[in-house]
Order: sequence, then structure tokens, then C-alpha cells
Amino acid sequence: MSTSHVVVIGSGFAGISAATHLAAKGNCTVTLVEKNNSPGGRARKFEHQGFVFDMGPSWYWMPDVFERYFAHFGKKPSDYYELLRLDPSYAVVYGKDDVLDIPADLGAFRSMLDSLEPGAGKNLDKFLAQAKYKYEVGIHDLVHRPSRSLFEFTSPRLLLDMIRMDIFQSMAKHVRSYFSNEKIIRLMEFPVLFLGETAQNIPALYSLMNYADIALGTWYPKKGMHEIIKGMVSLAEEKGVKFRYQAEVSQLLIENGKATGVQLSTGEILTADIVVAGADYHHVDQKLLEPPYRNYSAAYWDKRVLAPSSLLFYLGINKRLSNLRHHNLFFDEPLGPHADAIYTRPRWPEKPLFYASVPSITDPTVAPKGMENMFLLVPLAPDLEDSEDMRETYYHLIMDRLEKITGQEIRSHVVYKRSYAHQDFKSDYHAFKGNAYGLANTLMQTAILKPSLKNKKVSNLYYTGQLTVPGPGVPPSLISGHVVAKEVMKENNL
Ligand SMILES: Cc1cc2nc3c(=O)[nH]c(=O)nc-3n(C[C@H](O)[C@H](O)[C@H](O)COP(=O)(O)OP(=O)(O)OC[C@H]3O[C@@H](n4cnc5c(N)ncnc54)[C@H](O)[C@@H]3O)c2cc1C
Repeated sequence: MSTSHVVVIGSGFAGISAATHLAAKGNCTVTLVEKNNSPGGRARKFEHQGFVFDMGPSWYWMPDVFERYFAHFGKKPSDYYELLRLDPSYAVVYGKDDVLDIPADLGAFRSMLDSLEPGAGKNLDKFLAQAKYKYEVGIHDLVHRPSRSLFEFTSPRLLLDMIRMDIFQSMAKHVRSYFSNEKIIRLMEFPVLFLGETAQNIPALYSLMNYADIALGTWYPKKGMHEIIKGMVSLAEEKGVKFRYQAEVSQLLIENGKATGVQLSTGEILTADIVVAGADYHHVDQKLLEPPYRNYSAAYWDKRVLAPSSLLFYLGINKRLSNLRHHNLFFDEPLGPHADAIYTRPRWPEKPLFYASVPSITDPTVAPKGMENMFLLVPLAPDLEDSEDMRETYYHLIMDRLEKITGQEIRSHVVYKRSYAHQDFKSDYHAFKGNAYGLANTLMQTAILKPSLKNKKVSNLYYTGQLTVPGPGVPPSLISGHVVAKEVMKENNL
């Protein structure tokens, strides 16, 4: 059998996963090209005078997905990084002196719910039993399907499973059928924010995220999330993947309906038998391909519901902070108006909810001694006008609340500050409308309704990553790389 050469575009979780699965197969060579000067895509890191910042993901959920990824190659996560389970998992801040520490222990979590709403603990058991079932069918089966045809989903058992998984009911309705206390409802609805929409527009199938949160726990890789990328790159290189950084693809080369390679912005041409695009799907489809080869029209892309963009601050603070946990969700303002500003009438929100992560509370290696590493995130509508002035206004708005609620001076102790928003997502990742997390997992953008992982007009061009199946987030991106690699192997007899 002859050897095929695969070019993978993009070194995010999905691109590295696809490249590693293909290279491990043995009868193809793989080159991965990345425009930036380091791997990881949205999960890159940077350092400044002893502060080590993870640039994107900070929540390590679904540890079983990572275990399965490494086990596929005869490895374990612990071969590459050390995991700690956080306890409390995170804190939810409803206001000053009104904070819930979410315990890692299920019994303690149940008691906490009972203290908020008598009987809620019992309802939690029923809610979680169903969520566990969804997790098992969803994460162990559904997300591994390439979703290229409805026939993949028509077995009687699967149809029955899908009905049992409330695919047509909203998450908001589902949660309210078990709980009535407002704090519990917000807590239970929080995980779907990772999927890029509000609980009203996310199918109740995704209560599987609550199972991931409450039963499987919140974990942290020592030295930060980028350690996962480091481990994956090391494994990929062991399998023979050649990484090329500062190698930006400017065009896909097509002849007679087949990709023959990619052209880099330097003019260099890399030939290929197969191309797997792990860069943002819209960018590849609309910018790297000539119109006749595009899978979708500009109008199609414009109608997609994107997951939010974000305003981020990476802060170095020259003292230890109190009244904060590793992960802190500031739900001290109502979600409704902020959600409206993201999804209904896109604008900068008047009173944003925000998230603060302080990994140095758990891990002394990410900040100099006696100091703190802080990451702030405000979810925003994609495609907003993003200016320095606006970022600064929001910095002070959030800091005012953060200082007031936690009862300490923070701003005057900030010795390093970097902001990051729409413009940066566009220039660093070619992100469509400056999105942070890809496409939202609404019902109309699930499975076969997502942008397809295969180009319909170019027979050897495939896509992977958070804008195709199964969706946004680190575990789905890892799975996306595996799903596309299996399709490539199957269709090309690798
Ligand atoms: C701020 C933030 C917080 C998040 N928090 C979490 C979290 O806590 N937990 C979680 O599970 N998920 C989280 N996510 C989501 C998660 O990080 C993403 O879903 C995942 O990393 C996407 O991986 P990917 O491989 O699809 O894309 P990317 O990571 O974007 O990788 C695509 C790569 O393609 C490269 N590229 C683009 N164009 C070209 C080109 N022309 N030539 C060559 N290379 C190119 C880019 O530089 C990039 O490296 C977060 C995301 C963000 C932004």
C-alpha cells in the first residue's frame, strides 16, 4: 500500500487530535501547519515575569474523554500532566456575602440543595440519573458519529434513546420541572453557557453537562491547561507528526475537484493527498477556497448562531487575594438583560455577568511568590465594535464590582494587565465575527445540521474543530479530531 501525505491546518485541540490519529495509523505522513508561533490555538499560553497565563480554556471537565484520548495511543493523562480535583469545584457569587461554594462531594452538594429548597436533594438524584444516561449515550455514542447523513440516527434503539433524552425540550423547562429555587436554577443552567446559548435555546439533552459538572467534577492540570496541549504535541511528535509554526495557509490548491496541497503566505507550496482543516471553518470555506469549491454561501454563514465572543483580562496582582476561589462565577446581576445583549439585540451589556479565575490559588507555579494570577472573562455578542476605550470602561466596571463584593483593593495591585477581545480573536485565529467558542449548540445546529465535516465539492478536503461536529469546548474538539480521522481513514483506505 502506498503512503499518503496529509496536511492538517491548525494546531488547536481538534487539529492535533486529527493529526495524531492519522499519523498513528502508520500508512500516512502528516504535516501540521499553524499560523501562530506556538501550538494550542485558543488554548495557547503566554508568560510575563513569572506569571503564566492560559489564554483560553480554564475548566477541565469530562476527564474520561481525555483518558480515552490518551488510552487510544496506550498512554494516560498522567504520563503528561498531573491532575487535581478542585474542592470546592467553583464558587457562585450571587452578591456580597451571598456566595455558594460548590462542594465536590455529591452528598454535600445534595445537602446544599436541600438547604436552599426542601426536597431538592431527592429531585437532584432523579435529575442526575437521567443526566447520567444522557452523558453515556451522548458522549460515548452520539458525538462520535460523523453526522453526514440522517441514516446514522435512524436505528429504532437510537430513536428511542433520543426521545428519552428530551432532544426537543428546552434545558430551561427541564431544570424547572425539578427545581423552583432561583439559585438552584441558575446553578443548573450555568453549564449550558459553555454551549454558546441560553438554557431557553439549548435542548435538554445537554443536562449531560450537569452530570459532567456535579458527578465527574472540576479538575485542574498542574501548571495550567496548556499542559494538555504540551502532552498532545509530544505524543503527536512521537507518532511522527511534523509541526510547522508561523506557517499560515493563504490558499487551498484545487485541481479537478481534488485538493493538491496548500499555499502558505510566504508563497511556499506544500503538496498533499488529503487536507484536514482544523482552522475556523468559515475562514477555510470563505477565504482559502475559490467560490466554486465552497461548501456554503456567505448568507448561510451569516445566519449561523455563533457562540459568544469574550472580553478577557490577564492580570498579574502583587498580593494574595481573599474571598475568591480558583473559579468564580459572578451571577450578582440578572442573566436576562445580558443574554439579550448577546443573542437578541447585540450590544455591550449594561450590567454584565462575568467569570474570574485565580489559578494561583491552587497552583503556585503560575504566579511569582506572594502574588496572584487572575483571568477575567465577560461573554459578549460576536461582531461588536471593540475599542481600547470600551475595554477600559468594562475593566473598571468589573473591578468596581469585584472589589466591592470581595471586600478588598485589587486594581491598585495590578502589576501586569493585558486585554483580549474580538479584534484579537480575528487576528490570532481568523475567527468569524471574532467568536471565541465557535457555533452554538442550538437544536437547529446539532449533528447533521452543523457545517459538514466533509467538503461536498472537493473529494479529499475535510474539516474538524469547534465549528463542525460535535461542537464547542475542549472535549468535543478532541473528539472532533478523532471523528474526522476515522472518516479520512475509511474513505481513503488508510
Ligand atoms: C476564552 C475562552 C475560554 C474557553 N473556556 C473553555 C473551558 O473552560 N473549557 C472548555 O472545554 N472549553 C473552553 N473554551 C473552548 C475551547 O477552548 C475551544 O472549543 C477549543 O480550544 C477549540 O479548538 P479548535 O481546535 O477547534 O480551534 P482552535 O483552538 O482555534 O485552533 C485552530 C487553529 O487554527 C489556526 N489557524 C487559523 N487559520 C489558519 C491558517 N490560515 N493557517 C494556519 N493555521 C491557521 C489558529 O491559529 C489555531 O491555532 C474556551 C474558549 C475560549 C476562547
